[in-house]
Amino acid sequence: MIKNISVSQIKEVVQQAYEQVKTNTDGKNADYIPFLSGVDKDLFGISICLLNGETITIGDTDYIFGIESVSKVHTAILILQQYGVQQILGMIGADATGLPFNSLLAILQENNHPSTPLVNAGAITACSMVQPVGNPEAKWAAIVKIITELAGSAPKLIEELYKSESETNFNNRSITWLLKNYNRIYDDPEMALDLYTRQCSLGVTATQLAITGATIANEGFNPVTKKQVFHEELAAPVTSLIATVGFYEHSGDWMYTSGIPAKTGVGGGIMGVMPGVMGISAFAPPIDESGNSVKAQLAIKHIMNNLGLNVFNGKQINIVK
Ligand code: GLN
Repeated sequence: MIKNISVSQIKEVVQQAYEQVKTNTDGKNADYIPFLSGVDKDLFGISICLLNGETITIGDTDYIFGIESVSKVHTAILILQQYGVQQILGMIGADATGLPFNSLLAILQENNHPSTPLVNAGAITACSMVQPVGNPEAKWAAIVKIITELAGSAPKLIEELYKSESETNFNNRSITWLLKNYNRIYDDPEMALDLYTRQCSLGVTATQLAITGATIANEGFNPVTKKQVFHEELAAPVTSLIATVGFYEHSGDWMYTSGIPAKTGVGGGIMGVMPGVMGISAFAPPIDESGNSVKAQLAIKHIMNNLGLNVFNGKQINIVK
């Protein structure tokens, strides 16, 4: 049950994944947010962060792209810290919706519940909950702080993306007001929506997401900065949220074929959490019909399958030199 994997083996498989997937032309950039349709579709990078802080990178891992829905994980951690596990279950929920990330129907079907902080509805509710309630500047500072501490360095707001999303987020506006109707917005609704839109417009690199994944995989202890970012007991609940709904209506297919809890964003980033082993991120803008990066999915699956890594196979992984 103990499996030794060497760092050079990981490097080799990452290289293979990169070469194999690089030329794939499936999917297309998100275009419902106009800014994203203009991002270079050939960008592609893979980054791994091991729990000793070592990073393994290939391709465009320093390119700053829109974090989008991956940021839902960060805000979930923030409110889990501020409110605790039980309160999040009651105020938002921890269930899969089985529906697209921006579904209004999911809210109606779930008895007015946002279901999980990892779909748009729950993430907007989460932004409304961020403390101190009533103070948009301090709430924003708290969101940026948790993202910075998880990644080990600060994200950068992509102003053009923020403008583009703000001008076109009519569906999210509907979600916000529907939730308000059901008393599931716990601060000013327009403020919550704006915080959500702004956090989605933050720019990060694949390596920043790999370090974030590693911090979660390492029970909240950032292996690069050597700082405890969140309470160790929150790592399991947050990883369970990621496993349950990280790929929205395709979360089951993803877990079944990849073996790693991961969260996607329409900017083309995916962040995976392999508890006790590593964080992994891949980034490539073209996405499938559910909003998940095609190349990033293929790359992460290749790496997991070829290294024999799987959260469900019960193996104890030792990374050796
Ligand atoms: N900001 C985007 C939205 O709300 C994020 C969606 C995503 O990445 N899946 O539509």
